[in-house]
Amino acid sequence: MDIYNGNILRKLLKDADQGGYAVPMFNYTDLWDQMAVIEAAMELHAPIMFASIPKTVNAISPEVLGAVGTVQMKKAASPIIHHLDHAKSVELCIAAIDNGYPSVMIDASDKNLETNIAMIKNVVEYAHTRGVFVEGEIGRIKGRDYEATYDGDDFLARVDDALRLVQETGVDSLAIGIGTAHGFYDGKPEINFKRLKEMKEAITVPLVLHGGTGIPEEDVKKAIRLGINKVNIGTQIRYTYMQSACRLIQEKGPVTHTIDIMTEAKEEIKKVAKAWIRICMADGKAEADLKGQEIQYAES
Ligand SMILES: [Zn+2]
Repeated sequence: MDIYNGNILRKLLKDADQGGYAVPMFNYTDLWDQMAVIEAAMELHAPIMFASIPKTVNAISPEVLGAVGTVQMKKAASPIIHHLDHAKSVELCIAAIDNGYPSVMIDASDKNLETNIAMIKNVVEYAHTRGVFVEGEIGRIKGRDYEATYDGDDFLARVDDALRLVQETGVDSLAIGIGTAHGFYDGKPEINFKRLKEMKEAITVPLVLHGGTGIPEEDVKKAIRLGINKVNIGTQIRYTYMQSACRLIQEKGPVTHTIDIMTEAKEEIKKVAKAWIRICMADGKAEADLKGQEIQYAES
């Protein structure tokens, strides 16, 4: 299988759209949580994406992450896609593409529409000649890490803007601000399902839901039924990782070998990843489709 080509991801997301499920994308920070989400996918025979945010790329380097990601994709038994999440610059996207990422996200959603379109276009031009998949974003995903302040419905992506962006850029998928946030929610997240429905009717490329952590399972499933094809999960992976590691260090003491702590923490992260894979994929029609592709669930 040509795992380096964004076409694999295009097909995965198209299958998801037709099958009524979503491909989960997990953020990793290092090898341990990366292995956790990949092992979860292998044990459930499910396609996933594993992604690094700029903070991770800057701390480790696109060269090392690209090389490791490529090896992981190569040795995986079912399709997994390495992805750059939330790049704020065209340069970082290019660095990732040059180092073997088959998929990148350029997030210029905090800029005006013209600038957003121009930046996506730049990335698409470079990416598509190399077979790489590009995700863009429109509207705002709430949360303290990226965009912090809003007035009223400011965060909501407008359908006509989204349509124009997709048509002018040739972007492969689109993250849409419909009320979800990065990080944990203070109250219950208010997803604008009406806007999602309108988007799905107007936009032909796969739609992406960011800020999966903390959205009630029923709301995630409803969003998928209404046409979300990819769901991003970051905070819950990092939180589980730190919680488990802290608890295990307290239990075992600092003299323990790192591996004894981390292999156990990895199992905790795996449980979270598996739960998300099931939320995203094991719903009604999706199950039938997955069976057709000989993708089965090892556990119930
Ligand atoms: Zn995000």
